[in-house]
Amino acid sequence: MPDSTKRSPFSDVVQINRRGFMLSGGAIAAGAAAGATVTLGADDAAAQAGSVAGALPNSSFKVGEFEVMTLLDGAVTAKEPQKTFGMKQTAERFADVSAANFIPSDKFRAYFTPTLIKGAGEVILFDTGLGEGARPARGNLTLALAGAGVKPEDVTVVVLTHMHPDHVGGLMSGGKAAFPNARYVIGQAEFDFWSKMDPSHRVAKLFNANVKPLAEKATFVKGGDKVVSGVEAFEAFGHTPGHMTFVVESGGQQLHLLADTANHFVWSLAYPDWEVRFDMDKGAAAATRRKVFDMLAADKTPFVGYHLPFPAVGFVEKGSGDAAFRYVAASYQMSL
Ligand SMILES: [Zn+2]
Repeated sequence: MPDSTKRSPFSDVVQINRRGFMLSGGAIAAGAAAGATVTLGADDAAAQAGSVAGALPNSSFKVGEFEVMTLLDGAVTAKEPQKTFGMKQTAERFADVSAANFIPSDKFRAYFTPTLIKGAGEVILFDTGLGEGARPARGNLTLALAGAGVKPEDVTVVVLTHMHPDHVGGLMSGGKAAFPNARYVIGQAEFDFWSKMDPSHRVAKLFNANVKPLAEKATFVKGGDKVVSGVEAFEAFGHTPGHMTFVVESGGQQLHLLADTANHFVWSLAYPDWEVRFDMDKGAAAATRRKVFDMLAADKTPFVGYHLPFPAVGFVEKGSGDAAFRYVAASYQMSL
């Protein structure tokens, strides 16, 4: 829809909570030994940003031979979620569904969670967060990596699920490639779409600054292509015209990296047809949600959702009543 191509994607419409920004990850991170909570006031946050380094949460678990880590780039609290996730619902309906799922209907928390996978001789990063311009609330991927013992130069492959700023913003740092030894894997359809976009378009500007210069080191993929043996590209179009997800498979285990297939764990799973402001093709995005979550529910396959509550790893089952699906956050089963 023309409206949504011009609207800010997830990155810019959310408002930073001025009262304070809280990272509370360790206690909920699968496999984390102890809880850690860091609160930053917005005013002095920049000065304190460095102090978050040791506390930025990550979660790690195995999928067969692959070591998987979800890494928190940041999180923000935003108002009026219905304008994003329940565009055509009545306020009463939106409030009822929210209350039934123990969440408020007047605000929500958005998380930004890239994934790192080690295995097959590679260190593979899926999406890069918002980058240095979004700090301190977001743009902290390199700190999260450092907390996990990974340096930017250790990353050998950067995979981009789509071209929205909250996914490609961290590709550059100080005007240079943030992951200097990496090759890139990018969906062909997504790259082609943004290449043809009017260069004055906000997302196209960032695409031209951050992605285009790296294109000569990129491999362009379509559904079914492999990033490495055991990591396969999957076409999940709708959120953007070439939005890609990735299926990780090893030792009889599977994990689906869903990127922005569903951006909220209640509203977009229970009601996958509810229109979401950030979905550029709303019908295709809804159809993709139904197809992918049907598949994951049937196979009981775990998945990572980029904007889900950290550590962003969970399962989906069929919903009850008129709800299509229900999210089941992972607890310890992934790290046993
Ligand atoms: Zn996103």
